Order: sequence, then structure tokens, then C-alpha cells
Amino acid sequence: SETPDRSFEPNPTVCPFCGVGCTIEYAGRGGATGVEGPVNARGEICPKGAAAFDVVDHEDRLTEPLVRHNGSFVTAPWEEALDRVVDGIGGVIDEHGPEAVQFFASSNCTNEENYVLQKLARVLGTNNVDNCARLCHASTVAAMSERLGAGAMTNSLDDLREADCVFVNGANPAEQHPVAFRSYVLPAVRDGATLVHVDPRANDTTEAADVHVPLRPGTDIEVANAVAAVLIEEDLVDEAFLAERTTGFDRLRERLADVDVAANAEAAGVEPGTLREAARAYGEADRAAIVTGMGTSQHRCGTDNVHALLNLALLTGNVGRPGTGVNPLRGQNNVQGASDVGGLPGVLPGYEPVTDPAARERVAEEWGVEPPAEPGLTEVEATHRFGDDVRAAVVFGENPAVTEPNATAVRSAFDDLDFCVVVDLFETATAAHADVVLPGSAWAEKAGTVTNTDRRVMRMRPNADLPGNARRDFEVLTALGRRLTDRPEAFDYDGPEDAFDELTRVAPIYEGMSYEGIGDGYQRWPFDADEGSGTEVLHEEAFLTGERAAPLAVVDPVPPADELDAGELTLTTGRVLQHFNSGALSRRSDRLTAMRGEDVLQVHPSDADDRGVEDGDRVTVSNERGTVEATAEVTPAVREGVVFCTFHYAEPLANALTGDELDPAAKIPEFKHSAVAVEPAADA
Ligand code: SF4
Repeated sequence: SETPDRSFEPNPTVCPFCGVGCTIEYAGRGGATGVEGPVNARGEICPKGAAAFDVVDHEDRLTEPLVRHNGSFVTAPWEEALDRVVDGIGGVIDEHGPEAVQFFASSNCTNEENYVLQKLARVLGTNNVDNCARLCHASTVAAMSERLGAGAMTNSLDDLREADCVFVNGANPAEQHPVAFRSYVLPAVRDGATLVHVDPRANDTTEAADVHVPLRPGTDIEVANAVAAVLIEEDLVDEAFLAERTTGFDRLRERLADVDVAANAEAAGVEPGTLREAARAYGEADRAAIVTGMGTSQHRCGTDNVHALLNLALLTGNVGRPGTGVNPLRGQNNVQGASDVGGLPGVLPGYEPVTDPAARERVAEEWGVEPPAEPGLTEVEATHRFGDDVRAAVVFGENPAVTEPNATAVRSAFDDLDFCVVVDLFETATAAHADVVLPGSAWAEKAGTVTNTDRRVMRMRPNADLPGNARRDFEVLTALGRRLTDRPEAFDYDGPEDAFDELTRVAPIYEGMSYEGIGDGYQRWPFDADEGSGTEVLHEEAFLTGERAAPLAVVDPVPPADELDAGELTLTTGRVLQHFNSGALSRRSDRLTAMRGEDVLQVHPSDADDRGVEDGDRVTVSNERGTVEATAEVTPAVREGVVFCTFHYAEPLANALTGDELDPAAKIPEFKHSAVAVEPAADA
């Protein structure tokens, strides 16, 4: 690759990393600075945001299309590369039908790009389109949609400032959503709010917490049920709310009467007194907000974990008021939007079910083609069927060879495809298995919109031209639509704004929004065109199910899929402040890798002692799915019996060890609990 040599124009846009959605702009010498934006009102940013431009001008950027020739990639003109894609995808459709193609949408892409991508899949005749929300919050969305009618934050980030208690379950916002934590959670804590942190690992969030519940991974239901039992036992429930806004209380109360707090505490490996303290902090607060993350959702019972948390909010009347709610923090800058606009196999834009004839008709009026009525495949289900009934993949800006569970098997599955095209900035681990790799556009080269974690749609504005012969993802997608489908006119857009206007006509939650209306600020869904504003606090008078009352749910514990054999430890994975997801972006930043270089495996001192491992030693971590080598960091931050590493690295590849058993409702894998053996590396 050649080194891009370009200049950047300061043009306020949205940070490409986490779902907080800070506004940043180019600040010279490769740096970014925060500017006052809708979320970071004083221009605050974190180290990742400050390094955002490093990746844009990285020497590894792809600047020409690559096509595989005799097993190796060679550069090719765009026309030849696009012809190869049309022949590859078209050939599979001709032979096996459109359901034989899987589309990977991307939270790195804008709403407009994801909208066109899912439209491409559906106009071709398949609902096989999914995005990495499947791997992070699919279970949260499933549970919240079923009970409350919407799978996003019930309240806003600003609104966390109003809470008297913030109950953080399976999230580490101090490192993963730093500006939200510093700007909204910490000020509430300084004003007297109690911070409860439920997490097997002590981290930067724990440092600010009043109560830490260091639960054993996989015991979220035991913890939440014990908290619910204490709320009832100590009369900390909201009787009026229960009567007016919930159903099923008698049944839940009966089941929770059987919960022995001491037994649940023992199962979770925590003190009963700690669970009671957490319950009292939550139940005694006038306004208590739950903040939830992937520690809750990434389990084979992730949907049930969220159901158990929802019970806490409903029991105490902590829904539909400022400073309350259940608030999933989304990991990527547009993972919310990728799902909102239909990048999911079961729903059309605006979360309208594909099974709903009226919803299909609405998009057909706009597209000229009715999408299929059968839900498509999720990401992990699809990789399980690569080479079988799924024969081709279109991967836009995702890196499943690193991010999917049981990743060694995933890599080999990609080789079973008849055809694969990857559109990305770099030759990623997934691109290594592709037939064609197209050089796409980085965040700073894009125009369009993204939707942040608290449902704010904001505009991204380009700061730079494209390097070499790279093309904008929007142009690549519309070119594929014109060439691959028999509705080429449906992919003739005057640009991203034209596609956004179409989105607002087919997605009811976006109806009435416009680029002009968003301007330098935002418009929030669900949007009320008459009022010209979005709803900050959901479910005030009625739930988005249309009902005044939401059901309480009986939730029984589900053991993790991996049973621990004698001597095995539980591997749980997560993120750190300095890096981001598969690391394809953040590990190419010199300033971020200078802050944190290689990954480490955190091991509790007593587990290290048992294995003759000392701080800094090389260790092997293995199970039936794979073996990786890592450097041990011996620390009491992880609980005994648990080891922790990140999933930011292709080497060591944490997801070589994680299992691909799926939550039955949401099809999310169990990243947070894998049985592993840890021992000193042979050559250590
Ligand atoms: Fe970017 Fe998130 Fe950091 Fe804000 S908090 S600068 S959005 S990574």
C-alpha cells in the first residue's frame, strides 16, 4: 500500500469510536480535538477520540481494489473488481437463490449506507442481513422490545445526571463510554448519587463505586433475583406503579419468595450483605437508573439476564421518569443506527417486523419490490452454514474473523464460501479470506448520519478526500445495487441526503427528520414531526408496546454452556480505555498503542500461585476450541477463578477460545464465560 498524503479540513463531525457520539474535528498534526456538541457540551473527548485521525491517514490504508488471482491478491481497476463481485454474487444467486448470500452490515457505516445495504439484500430477495449488534446487545434489544416496546435507552445520557442511584450491571462506562461517565454519571455521584457496580472485575468504574458486586461470570440472574427478593422483603417496591403500570406481580412475588438471598449470593460468589446493600441503594433511591452493558448481554441467557434487570426497574417504578430507566450503552458510534435502519434479519427499517404484511407493503411502495416475509439468518447462524446453504458473503466494514466466537472455525468457514467480497479500510483478518477486497472510506471522509446510544441522529461531515482510488462506501453500495438487482433505478440517489429522506418515509421512528432539521445538533427518535422534537424519556404515560402496563417476568437461572473441569478457570473478555473492538482501527494508532501495547491476561494471585505463574510470565490459555499465548498480569482486580483479556487483538486471539452456543431468543453468543486451562508457556 502507499502512504496517503492528504490534508484535512476542520469540519465538526462525530467521533468514530464509541456510541456516546462526541463531536470532534481535526486539530492539525494528526490530532483531533473535541468541539462543543450535542453530547459533549463542553467539547470533552477521551484518548480514543483524540487519536481518531491516526487511522484515517494510516499507511496500511487500501487505495486500490484487490482481486484474488491464482491464490494471491493483485490490484485491479474498479470496473474489473465490480464485475468480479457481480459475477460472484450473481452466480451464487442464479445457482442457489438469494438466501445463499449473507450480508454483513456495519456499525462503522452511516445510517444511509446501512439503509442501502439492507435494501440491496432485500431487493435481491433475502433478509439475510445482520450487523455486529448481534454480538453485543441483541439480547438487550430482544428483552426490552418484548417488555417495553423498544430496545434502546429508555432515558438520555444527560438524564443520568438526575439519578439518585446508578446501578451499573456488566458495563464499564469509565473506560468504554468515558465522556458519558465523566459528564453525566460522575457529576450525579458527586452530588450524592450511589453508584452500584456489578462486574466480576474491578476496573475504573469500580473506583468510583459505593458498592461493588464482583459476581462470578454467568450469575447475573442470581444477583438480580436476590436484589428483587430484597426489594419485596424490605418493602422497597412502588405499590402504586405496580398496580397501574405492571402485570404479573403476584406470580413474580410468589416465585421470588422462594429465593434464598444467601444461597444466591453463594452461587454468585459474593457476600449476601453486598447484595442487600445493592438492593437498598437501588430501592431507596427516589430516581434509580440501570446502566447495562455486554457483561449482561453476552451470555447464552443474555435475554433472561435483561429480563431480570427489567424486573428491578418495574418493581420500583423506575421507568418513565427522569433519572430512571434501563439504559443499554451501545459500543460503536452507529451500532444503534445500523439496527434502526433495518440491518437486522427480522425487521425492516424502524424495527417493523418482516413478518408484518403492512410493513412489507410500505417499503414495497418505495422500493418497487416487496421483501421476503421469512426472517433471515443472524451473523453467527450464517457462519455455521457457510459452505452448506450459505455460499457467498458481502462484508461491509466488519471483521468477523476476529470478532465472532470460535474464531478459528469462523476463519475456516469463510474458506468454504464460493465467493466473498470485503469492503474495508485495511486488509483485515476477514479480508484475507475474500475473493475481492474493495477500498472503502474512513469516517472522516464520509457524509451522512449516525445514531448514538441515546437515540440521537447526528450528522457526519467529511474532513478529507479519499486516498488513492478508494471510494465512498455509499457509492460502492449504490453501484452494487444498480449492477446486481433488476431495479437499478431504486439505487439512483442524489447522495446520502436523498437516501436519508427515503429512510424517513419507510421507518416510522425517523418520520419527519431531515438533514436541515438535524443541522449542527440532533433529532432523536421516536421523532414527533408536529412537535419538531424527539422523546427524551420513554414510557411516561404508556409503554411503546402501546400498553399502559408492562409485564413482570419470572426468570430462572441458566448455567453457562461451558462447564468447568477440575483446575479450569473462567475466561471473560472485554474492552479497555485505549482500544476498540477488533482493534483494526485503534491498534493502528501509535498514540493509543503507546498507551497500551500488547494484550495481557489478568490472573488472580491465588490462581497464579497454583500454576506457578508470576507477573509478566508467558502463559498458554487453551480449551477444546483453541490455544493462545499471552503475558500474565497477576492482579486481584479479577476475582479468583476468573481470567480476563480483551478481544481487541488478532494475536492473541481471544475469540479462538470463546464458544458459539447462542441465546435462543437473541442468537447472541456467550462471550463472557469460557472454560479454559491456564499454564506456563512451554518456552517461558
Ligand atoms: Fe469518542 Fe466515545 Fe471517547 Fe467520545 S467517549 S471521544 S465518542 S470514544
